Amino acid sequence: MYNPRSRYNRNACCPCNSPDPLARQESVMYAAGMFAFEIVHESVSSAARVGKFSTPHGVVDTPAFMPVGTCGTIKGVTRDHIVASGSQMILANTYHLLLRPGPEVVAALGGVHNLMAWDGPILTDSGGYQVFSLAKLRKVDEDGVTFASHIDGATVVLTPERAVRVQELLGADVIMQLDECPPHDAARDVIAGAVRRSAAWARRCAAAKSRDDQALFAIQQGGLHADLRAASAEAIVQLDLPGYAVGGLSVGEGHEAMIAVLDAVDGQFPRSKPRYLMGVGEPADILAAVTRGIDLFDCVLPTRNGRNAFAYTFSGPLRMRNACHTGDRSPLEESCPCLTCRHYSRGALRHLFLAGEMLGPILLSIHNITFFARFMAAIRAAIAAGQFASKARQWLGQMNPCRAGRQST
Ligand SMILES: [Zn+2]
Repeated sequence: MYNPRSRYNRNACCPCNSPDPLARQESVMYAAGMFAFEIVHESVSSAARVGKFSTPHGVVDTPAFMPVGTCGTIKGVTRDHIVASGSQMILANTYHLLLRPGPEVVAALGGVHNLMAWDGPILTDSGGYQVFSLAKLRKVDEDGVTFASHIDGATVVLTPERAVRVQELLGADVIMQLDECPPHDAARDVIAGAVRRSAAWARRCAAAKSRDDQALFAIQQGGLHADLRAASAEAIVQLDLPGYAVGGLSVGEGHEAMIAVLDAVDGQFPRSKPRYLMGVGEPADILAAVTRGIDLFDCVLPTRNGRNAFAYTFSGPLRMRNACHTGDRSPLEESCPCLTCRHYSRGALRHLFLAGEMLGPILLSIHNITFFARFMAAIRAAIAAGQFASKARQWLGQMNPCRAGRQST
């Protein structure tokens, strides 16, 4: 079982003493205060790398996937299930916690770690993405955003300084700058304005930040415009922050368009610092992004799809309402150590979904979170063994046969 406070132990987490000459053993260390990022393996054939991201609440083996606890809870899953899944870092949404129960209440409860009963690393987003996707926007100007709460319509103002203050009250290990997130198909001048404003807001967030036990990441915007992406990266890298995120993707632009943006990431951001691709979680997208040097991912898909009877496996997805599972006594995945696969058959899971029992969504969420942790561990092992490209092709063929032929990993 993962102990987020355990001492750094390179050999315990991936086969880093692999003799495979294709895996270059090179340590690129970035360290600032309570945070550090060390690359323990780099692929020679791509930008894929295995790293150790150290935070005040423990070490994260990268590439890593963060399950999403939207309202301070990963839906349907207890903290014991998250620990058992092998997940090392989780995410909470500032927008939701700002509106309910409020950052002061979270702080009174001991911060987001206590709220979520999780003493491992946590990342909070700034709320920007949800403001632009969920709330009714009132105004965006140089100072910040004014919006109406989607819960009760109350007017809320979020400035860069307020976004940092809220996240300091929440107390996560990694906090995100406030950014402007225009639709990917917005006019070029709108996206260019968002790039300029987001960079200015990143500077203000960095200036407003006061806690030494939190790392601030800046966010690249720029839509699908290569020059705007480059300008955005250049502006935020100048701030010399401990990590950088790629924002504004997985918003309907499609896999190939996402790849075109990610192709430039390795040259745009320092290799010594973690790179986080926000909101991306389909296995095929993760493989393509890892190939291009991404270290951190988050997505609601494991739990959202789990609630909808969709199970991820290394052999491809299973839809548990399908009649083919009716009398099937086998587990979702023979090799999976999760509670669901140890105790429940595919036939039993199908019954739970057809009967509308709440246990069905819970069990599939547990399995899916475990799948993503195992998937990332397998990716790290493959990079360390110098076999990532061939393993990625194999996984794509198994998980998504239609895409395997044209996937650009
Ligand atoms: Zn399982």
